[in-house]
Amino acid sequence: MRLSGLTLRHFRNLGSQDLEFPPEGIALIGDNAQGKSNFLEAIYYLETFRSFRGARDEQLVGFNSELFRVTGTMQATDEECGTEVVAAAFERNGKRKKVSVNGEEPERLGDALGRLAAVVFSPRDTQLVSGGPKKRRRFLDIVLSLSQPGYLAAIQEYRRILQQRNVSLKTGQPPSVVMAWDSGLIKSGASVTRARRDWIDLRCEAFRDYYARISDGVSARITYAPSLSLTGAASEGGIAEAFRDALAVTAERERRVGATVVGPHRDEVQLQLDNGGSTLDLRQYGSGGQRRTAALALRLVEAKSIRESRRKQPLILLDDVFAEFDSGRSERVLELMETEETGQVVLTAPREEHVRIHSDSLPRWRITAGVVAT
Ligand code: ATP
Ligand code: MG
Repeated sequence: MRLSGLTLRHFRNLGSQDLEFPPEGIALIGDNAQGKSNFLEAIYYLETFRSFRGARDEQLVGFNSELFRVTGTMQATDEECGTEVVAAAFERNGKRKKVSVNGEEPERLGDALGRLAAVVFSPRDTQLVSGGPKKRRRFLDIVLSLSQPGYLAAIQEYRRILQQRNVSLKTGQPPSVVMAWDSGLIKSGASVTRARRDWIDLRCEAFRDYYARISDGVSARITYAPSLSLTGAASEGGIAEAFRDALAVTAERERRVGATVVGPHRDEVQLQLDNGGSTLDLRQYGSGGQRRTAALALRLVEAKSIRESRRKQPLILLDDVFAEFDSGRSERVLELMETEETGQVVLTAPREEHVRIHSDSLPRWRITAGVVAT
């Protein structure tokens, strides 16, 4: 998708601005703390209606304001031309979030997700590799919620049931009360597990390829390490059976610890380097640069997934990402972005040198104290 217009009202330090975007995108240049990341955060808010930096909505309201509003006008990039206007607003006092697509409020927030088809690359992404398993599950959950119909509903259902089941375990309810949750847990959990496994199976080749291209030939892999043993469980029904068996085996233990100890909430995604016959876990042994490379490869896979599953040209948001790479890597990343038919790019950088994507053709905008000069 292509962003053609953006209206900002009191989002962080960005004040009140109405901007028109060129089709190829822009490079936003500004010193530290002027609002570059805030600007990308505002745009990506229209994709997921949350901060990509993990901030609460309250934190996004300008210091002296009661409410923020972001409105984006999107153009489809393929033959079918069409315009879509997505708006989001949040009111500090009532803690009320309001979202609309072409002026209409969706029945559920989930129905309005993913309109931009955007991917953000940010220095924080290294946490995807160096952080705990929760970070990687969250990555999968976002990508799958945006690309697969039904995934969001399944994961929400799973979390809801898991929470209730854990309450009954924690409060020492009899087994029959705990087990009353099992069929719902198994059904939603099997659906989540199957979607995660299939996505990683489908995308692991691309991950390997991107990693090798950025690092000039090093071999890395992404593997799903599900909490449930899936050997022989190909179908969703098979996974459900494996889940039921696992619950039976762990019944004793979960009563002792007062929580459900198997299921997709315990999944891990492994990122490893091939190291001459053995493998090295990037989380534990990767260098800073290797972790950044793996994180970048994950984001590139995310963009590929948007192109292929959602059949949309992704809008690429790059938050100061080249600052962190040595020049060989930056060069190769730029080349890669060019060959991947990058669509519109909104890039931020403190200095001009880092702005050579799209053969150096991106118009420069500047930002000072939250005010954008086009
Ligand atoms: P860097 O180059 O260091 O990453 P940046 O240009 O990306 O800097 P941002 O993180 O976008 O900087 O913006 C930081 C500024 O935004 C800080 O000055 C901070 O005080 C201000 N800020 C953050 N939240 C709010 C808010 N809710 N209202 C007003 N200003 C805010
Ligand atoms: Mg920043």
